Formats: sequence, C-alpha cells, structure tokens
Amino acid sequence: MSILEIRDLHATVETPEGTKEILKGVDLTIKAGETHAIMGPNGSGKSTLAYAIAGHPKYEITSGSVTLDGQDVLEMSVDERARAGIFLAMQYPVEVPGVSVSNFLRTAKTAVSGEAPALRTWVKDVRSAMDELKMDPVFAERNVNEGFSGGEKKRHEILQMELLKPSIAILDETDSGLDVDALRVVSEGVNRAKERTDLGIMLITHYTRILNYIKPDFVHVFVNGKVAEQGGPELAERLEAEGYERFLEGAK
Ligand code: ADP
Ligand code: MG
Ligand code: MG
Repeated sequence: MSILEIRDLHATVETPEGTKEILKGVDLTIKAGETHAIMGPNGSGKSTLAYAIAGHPKYEITSGSVTLDGQDVLEMSVDERARAGIFLAMQYPVEVPGVSVSNFLRTAKTAVSGEAPALRTWVKDVRSAMDELKMDPVFAERNVNEGFSGGEKKRHEILQMELLKPSIAILDETDSGLDVDALRVVSEGVNRAKERTDLGIMLITHYTRILNYIKPDFVHVFVNGKVAEQGGPELAERLEAEGYERFLEGAK
C-alpha cells in the first residue's frame, strides 16, 4: 500500500526576470488504487508540480514536504525516486537520439528494478504491452521519440509505465493531442495498469474528455500554484459547464 503525501509544497524557478514562485502551498495525498484528476488552466503550475515530485533540477523546493510511505522524496535523487516507485509521463516527452525504444526500455527497467530483466520473459512482456497499446513491433527499433507523432509519444510513455510497474504514476496531459482512438487505447492501458498493480494515479489534465475513459475518485482544481477546490467526479462536470473563471476570480 503506497501513499504519496504532499504538504504545503512551495517551489520556485529562475527566470530572466528573477526568481518566480510557481507552487504556492500544494497539499495532496494519493493512495494506492486511487485516481486523482488535477485540473487547471494553462500556466497554473501543474507541470511544475509533476516535475517537483519527479525531481527536475530546474525547480527549487523552498518549503514543504513530499513523502512516499513516510520516506522523504525530496532528499532522493531522480533515480532513487524512480526506484522508490514514482513514475512521470511527461507532457512533452524528449527525444533521445541514437537510443532505440527497445534499449531504452531495458535500460530503464534495469535501473528501476536493480537487475537486468530475464531476456525471454522481458521480450514477451514488451511485445504484449506493445500489442495492447496497438503499437507496431517495428516501433521498438526506432529511436526514442525521434519523429514520433504526438500519439506515438504518449503511447510510448504508457508503455514505459506498463513495463516499469510504478506504485505512483503522474500522467501530465497524457491526453493532449490525442485523437479519440488513441485516447481510448492510452486510457485502456492506464486502466489495465490500475487493475494489475493497484496503481495510485495523478492525472493532470486540462480537459474533462479523458475522464470519460479514466474514472477519477477525486478531482482537484489547480489554480495559481495550489489546489483551490477538491471534490468527487461531479466537480469535473461542473468545470466542464462553468470553466475556470470562478476559480481565477478567487485567486486574484
Ligand atoms: P501548467 O502545466 O499548469 O500549464 P507550468 O507548470 O508549465 O503550468 O507553468 C507554470 C508557470 O511557471 C508558467 O507561468 C510558466 O511560464 C512558468 N514556468 C514553468 N517552468 C518554467 C521555467 N523553467 N522557466 C521559466 N518559467 C517557467
Ligand atoms: Mg501548460
Ligand atoms: Mg503543463
């Protein structure tokens, strides 16, 4: 049973105009098996929250805490966070020239689990995960994200998640740029992972569309660097109808 606890988290970034505070006191708890939708307008700090938890060096944590099963996540290196079971599917996955998907996945799996996966079962696991995500097997020999379409990049993120088997997954706008078919395939992948491993999910999104496929247990409205309101799935329906206006007014 994993539990990720974020308490009063503040984070800054260096900009040409000086130090800017982006996270302004985030409180959030995610337990194994729970899906939390984080919804908010562009620029509210959703990706910064994802990066802060994953350990991106650009963001400085100025106060607050993040713990996983009581262990201090902020003290861990990026690698240690991954080994502890935290996974981040990035909003803008990066290209890794010269590294094939197949090599990348095997290296990542080895790093996260501490030993190289047994070749026979591994090859089978990769094939069946790719098959479930409706990815052509030739994909495995292409370089990571090089020339991938938006949908292919997002499928590749979910493929990593399926193979690395994290306990907490942060999915940063995994739905953006997907057509309806790709959205369904990716969502089904997430739902399978939920069933298989009792995954705790932080589902960052801008739109309610993905919530038709991945049912959230909790919805958090994220505005101006913190959670402005939280509720159940009905809150997403209200956002769909009313937009973020009300919350933006409140944040001023
Ligand atoms: P969201 O994901 O909700 O759209 P972000 O976390 O990407 O929001 O960004 C929040 C705010 O922080 C934005 O105003 C953005 O321009 C700023 N910001 C984020 N990262 C950086 C950075 N590396 N350098 C400068 N400003 C940044
Ligand atoms: Mg954005
Ligand atoms: Mg973002």
